[in-house]
Order: sequence, then structure tokens, then C-alpha cells
Amino acid sequence: MKNNKRIVTPLPGPKAKAMIERDSKVVSPSYPRDYPFVMSHGEGCDVWDVDGNRFLDFAAGIAVCSTGHRHPAVVEAIKGAADQFLHISSDYWHEHQVRLGERVNELSHMGEVLSFMCQSGTEAVEGALKLARYVTGRSRFIGFLGGFHGRTMGSLAFTSSKYTQQKGFFPTMAGVTHIPFPNNYRPLLAGDDQGKAVLDYLEQVLFQSNVPANEVAGILVEPIQGEGGYIVPPDGFLQGLRDLCDRHGIMLIFDEVQSGVGRTGKMFAAEHWDVAPDIMCLAKGLGSGMPIGLVVSKKEHMAKWPRGAHGNTYGGNPLCCAAALATLDLVEQEYADNAAKVGAYFIERLRELQGRVDCIGEVRGRGLMIGMELVTDRDSKEPAKELCDRLITRAYHNGLLLLSCGQSTLRFMPPLCVTRAQVDEALEMIETSLAEALVG
Ligand code: PMP
Repeated sequence: MKNNKRIVTPLPGPKAKAMIERDSKVVSPSYPRDYPFVMSHGEGCDVWDVDGNRFLDFAAGIAVCSTGHRHPAVVEAIKGAADQFLHISSDYWHEHQVRLGERVNELSHMGEVLSFMCQSGTEAVEGALKLARYVTGRSRFIGFLGGFHGRTMGSLAFTSSKYTQQKGFFPTMAGVTHIPFPNNYRPLLAGDDQGKAVLDYLEQVLFQSNVPANEVAGILVEPIQGEGGYIVPPDGFLQGLRDLCDRHGIMLIFDEVQSGVGRTGKMFAAEHWDVAPDIMCLAKGLGSGMPIGLVVSKKEHMAKWPRGAHGNTYGGNPLCCAAALATLDLVEQEYADNAAKVGAYFIERLRELQGRVDCIGEVRGRGLMIGMELVTDRDSKEPAKELCDRLITRAYHNGLLLLSCGQSTLRFMPPLCVTRAQVDEALEMIETSLAEALVG
């Protein structure tokens, strides 16, 4: 009989330990690794470690494995492309790249768009920043406290979700001013409507002092803040930013690297508020695990980029484009809807759990981008950081892969094909792990 037990060896198992030992001798120690999961293979929402333990993967390679591990249609598309050629460079034309541009144009909520192809989120952000400067001829930018946009010197200038990400790397790109991200659970400004408060601060304080609006090239914002804590902005905020950008000739840049491609139950998160940016950055879930990023911009803006203004070697890699095309089809046909439905169910069940335990301050999210913020008590809202870390470790021991974000928020970002039954299984493991973590 098939052994359905998830965990079959003490964790980490002997092969995992040996691999980590070898890795420590040759791989950079800078990666923020939290627990000793050593991958062997995966299928759908399940992954196996090298010792044969099976885990439910609710981290999905940091919201990357959108269609699950090794979706047959994605693997087939990659194999098909590999049978043709592995690389040709962005100096030339080919079918996969053109088709991806056409698909993004069809699916876009931004009107007619052109796409610039690259390999990662941070590179998409760099491209967006360069485009905004090029189109406006201005140099300053506005970013948000708690934002995460990558770790290269331009995007890093905006990243502020954790100090460890910038520590030791100053100076980053100049000209970036951070403002609060509207968070009604943890307001930084006075007023009940944090969205309005932030917009007023921008317009009435910042633009009137040392950051004049007519020097600002772009506002870079995650429609739902990711690494900063899975924070959903209040209704009206993104529309308010859109209006403000229109009035001042500023490029509105949505970083949908984490929130895009079906993750929130819509193709792009900004569609929840019916707001279109001037420039959108995509990566992560777009390639189901293949490294691809896109700068997508309204045709009127990107068409201003002359030949040679921006480029790269690997942009439009055929295997990555093929994976993205297969992913977009699956997300459009099935998985965005699944994310909306299963995500709503998951949030409801987490709120029930919140009703039973005191340490859950807030459950929030859209689709399958769900955060559960842990606090030491609900009145003080003191972040329960150690509890969060312990819970993640206990979850690993119970067979569930999780990651955190913000100061003490568990984030749930399973593959978009996750079922209710898998969510139920995860919920049991979350509850058990929480009980164990609370003991210490
Ligand atoms: N933007 C956002 C919103 C992200 O969440 C991330 C990665 N967590 C990035 C950009 C950077 O992406 P990458 O790691 O692929 O450079």
C-alpha cells in the first residue's frame, strides 16, 4: 500500500543534512533561508525533499510556481521550445517572443501595450524606472515604506520592507522619497482613511516642500504590498494615485511582480480597483518557475524608447516565453477563478481560526495572496515575531512549507491550482503548528 504519511524521517533527514553541509562550503551564505528544506522534486502543490518527505507547498517558490510544480502543459511548452533553440539573444526576432507580446497585449487592462522582456522582478523594475525617466525627462521618484521591489541598486533604493536588505549597500540610486503605504490596521498618519491621508500628505506636504511634483518621474507602488506584510490598500487609494499622477504628468508604475498573473483572483491585482498604471512590472508567477520578467507599458509611452535605449542578452528567451504563454492560458482559463474561490474560502477559514485564538491580529488578502498577522495581544498589536518564526519552523516539521512577510505575518501563496481539500489539510497543519509554537 502507498505510504501517504507526509513526514517519514526525523527532519532534516540525513541526505538533507549532507546537502546543506556541501552547500555551506560553496554557495553564498547571504540567502535568507529559514528552515532546512532540501528539494528533490515536486508535483502540483506537493514537494518532496531528498529524504523522501512530502510537504504541502504554500510558499510556491515565493509565489512563483503559479500553475503548481511541473504542470504538464508548461513542461510540454518548455520542451517544445527547447527542441527548436535555447537562445538567440534579443538582437533577433522569434515567434515565442512575439506571441508573448501579443498575449500580454490581449490580456492587459491598460489598453494597447508593448512589453520589454527580461529575467526577473528586479530587472523589470529597473526597466520601468528607466522608462519613466526617459519618457518624462524628470529624475525623482516616490516609493512606499514597506515596499519591496528587488535588490539591484535601482530597485533596492525603493525596497524598504526590511533594513537587512539595504544595510551595507548605501548609497543606492538617488532621488527616491518614501511615503507611508496606507494600512488601516497599523496607521502611520492621522485619520480614519489612510488612503486619503497618504494622498493628502503627498499632495499637500511633500509636493509643496522639497519634492515638487514637476520633478517626479514616477510613483512606484505594489497594488497589494507583498514582502512588507501582504497589505491590501483601502478602496479608492489606487484610483487617487491615478488621478494625482494624471494631474501632475507623473508615471504611475504598478509593481505586480508578486500580485500579478492570477495570484489575487484577477489577472492583475489592480483590476480589483479598476485602475490601470502607465507601466506594469511582472515576473514571478508569469513563468511558473522559468525566469522571466516583463516591463509592460502603454504603447504611447514605450514607443518613445528609441532603438538601443534599453536591452539585454537573455530577454525573450524562448523557453521562458513558452512557459509564460502556457501559464497565461492556464491562469486565464482556470486558475485566476480558482484563486478567487479557494482564496475566499481560505480567508474565511482563517478568520474562524482568528475567532478561536488571541494571537491573530488580522487576516487579509485577495485571492491566494493571504496574510495572517500575529500579535502578542490584540490591543497593543505588538508584532509576535518569535511566535511567527516558531510557527514556520513547526509547520515545516508538520509537512507544510510557509514563509513570512512584514514583521510577524504568515503569508499563504500556494500554487493557484490548490484545492479546498489541500487548504483544509494546510489549515489543520497551521492550527497544530500554532498550538505547538505557542507552547514555545
Ligand atoms: N517586486 C516585488 C513586488 C517582489 O515581491 C519581488 C520579489 N519578492 C521583486 C520585485 C524582485 O523580484 P526578483 O527577486 O525576481 O528580482
